[in-house]
Amino acid sequence: MPLLAAVVLAAPLASAAQDSALVTAAPPSSTGQSLNLPADAAAAATAAEDQNGSVTFIGTATVLIRYGGMTILTDPNFLHKGDHVQLGYGLTSERLTEPAIPIEALPPVDLVILSHFHGDHFDQLVQEKLPRTIPVVTTPQSAVALENLGFAKRYPLATWDTLVVTKGQTVLRISAMPGRHGPPILAGLLPSVMGSMLDFSSAGKPDYRMYISGDTLVYEDIKEIPQRFPEVDLALLHLGGTRILGVMKVTMDGADGVRMMQLVAPRHAIPIHFNDYTVYKSPLSDFEQAVKAAELQNRVTYLKHGETYRFEPREK
Ligand SMILES: [Zn+2]
Repeated sequence: MPLLAAVVLAAPLASAAQDSALVTAAPPSSTGQSLNLPADAAAAATAAEDQNGSVTFIGTATVLIRYGGMTILTDPNFLHKGDHVQLGYGLTSERLTEPAIPIEALPPVDLVILSHFHGDHFDQLVQEKLPRTIPVVTTPQSAVALENLGFAKRYPLATWDTLVVTKGQTVLRISAMPGRHGPPILAGLLPSVMGSMLDFSSAGKPDYRMYISGDTLVYEDIKEIPQRFPEVDLALLHLGGTRILGVMKVTMDGADGVRMMQLVAPRHAIPIHFNDYTVYKSPLSDFEQAVKAAELQNRVTYLKHGETYRFEPREK
């Protein structure tokens, strides 16, 4: 059975890059792409019943985000312990953990946000089993890879572009944030990557702003994020200090994660992507120590695989 009953596309797939000049300071303007999800009765009931949202950590950078009757899946990775992923150029990495739930047990998902097309973020099992009708929001480069795999509903976003998603009374603006997967010399050889800013709002309900870093290092362009998108409520940080060929760091380590928190200044942060593969070299304890040294303990929640963080919309 498909995970998703039906999706109404309100606009055809647009070239995400073409209107990027229209984007100005926050609130971000749309670049013309929108997605209208049918508001089923069950979702409406859930939205009315539960005014709060949640983030469930499945493993790697895979989380289920629920808010106002919407369910969003990020960077789906459902391989099992001992499986290997391809990272390009003949590089592989072994999974060291189990996903908290198998792909077959996923609840109905409205859309997927994919930071980049890499094996630990969109694995071979997902390529085989994810319904081809599910909308995927991703980089223009990854959208081409998804097209080749037969995924029909792709929403490519260039940096700072925004997709507006509506479902019943809930409106979600997804904006692509800058990301660079490694030092300049290496980033060009790896897939382009995007962070995401999720701005949730519902009629009569306050807003909630969530930042997902993607696999990036902290570099110059990141400084523009808090200028355009201040007052982030929650940040999901891709850590792990991933090393390619054992030497080149291509994702944030513990100290980088704290630098990211200090730059983007989220009210709260949750580390993800830190212990699932052999190429992740910076254990979570690196981040914990850096957080303590920076006296940010009150602003970090550590989720084990399968645990859920619940949040309340911001008081206006
Ligand atoms: Zn990764």
